[in-house]
Amino acid sequence: MHRLDAFREFVTESESLAPLTWFRLGGPAEYLARPRNLDELTGLLACCRSTGLSTRILGGGSNLLVRDEGVTGVVIQLESPAFSDVAVEGRRVHAGAAVPLTPLISQTARSGLAGLEILTGIPGTVGGALRCNAGGRGGAIGQFVHSVTVLDSRGEVQVRDRDDLIFGYRSSNLDDPVLLSAEFDLQPEDPKSVVKQMMRIWIVKKENQPYGHQSSGTIFKDPTPEVSARVLIEQSGLKGAREGGAEVSDRHANYIIAQAGATAADVLRLIDLIRNQVRLQFGYELELQIQIW
Ligand SMILES: Cc1cc2nc3c(=O)[nH]c(=O)nc-3n(C[C@H](O)[C@H](O)[C@H](O)COP(=O)(O)OP(=O)(O)OC[C@H]3O[C@@H](n4cnc5c(N)ncnc54)[C@H](O)[C@@H]3O)c2cc1C
Repeated sequence: MHRLDAFREFVTESESLAPLTWFRLGGPAEYLARPRNLDELTGLLACCRSTGLSTRILGGGSNLLVRDEGVTGVVIQLESPAFSDVAVEGRRVHAGAAVPLTPLISQTARSGLAGLEILTGIPGTVGGALRCNAGGRGGAIGQFVHSVTVLDSRGEVQVRDRDDLIFGYRSSNLDDPVLLSAEFDLQPEDPKSVVKQMMRIWIVKKENQPYGHQSSGTIFKDPTPEVSARVLIEQSGLKGAREGGAEVSDRHANYIIAQAGATAADVLRLIDLIRNQVRLQFGYELELQIQIW
């Protein structure tokens, strides 16, 4: 393990990333680190900076395609309880970056706090959701953020206040290497009515998305608020199109499903095919929503 010998208690070599992503595709990480607390995380990052090893943070792996050859450098999976704490105080909610959205939404609903239920059915963690301002028709996570605690590029803990933050359509200006936790401001509401709203959103999402299949979230961003990538792909006649084991979902054309035997290369070829067809037929250059490692 040479360069990372000092961290062998929580770093493994050549571990497959596929089981850690929703696509379940792709190769290994040169190093996979699961730091157990902030000191281990900052120590590891300092070592990576001084030795020139690149680092990436893995959340729930639901917005991610890992290439078949895997990734060099260190993938850091924030999964330890040290990054998964939740605390509710009045209408302010603190959540660690590794907290999965679903239990967070349930907990805030039970505490009689409304807001985050608009994220019902979105997999992944608080960190991943903040990075891309995850959301849906009802809004996005950024609108509830009071502040975000990060590790900056020098490895120092900083608090980014609401006034410093810009959240856009599936984007944010949170470009620090690690998001550690966030504070949200929610609205008091009868828990029963929040739960009802969660169920309504869940029913709509289940009807529209290919749950139960191997896939990430939507592959492309909508080119404009009025023009949906899903509709452009459908109208290009690509529903059900295949490259190897990768297939454009019948249910929602902006999802790619990995069928048995699929590789990340199949998905990448299908992405190219979709982009080319949409460009040819409609003149739109589709921008990726998913991250490709
Ligand atoms: C079935 C399905 C439905 C979905 N529906 C929606 C939807 O309706 N709306 C929507 O917006 N998204 C949706 N998604 C996409 C996905 O769930 C979100 O983008 C989610 O927020 C990603 O979070 P994650 O923890 O899985 O991030 P990952 O996929 O693990 O990572 C995504 C990016 O965030 C970075 N990142 C993650 N955690 C941190 C951290 N702590 N610090 C710094 N960087 C970090 C990673 O480095 C990577 O660049 C869906 C996905 C699936 C599979």
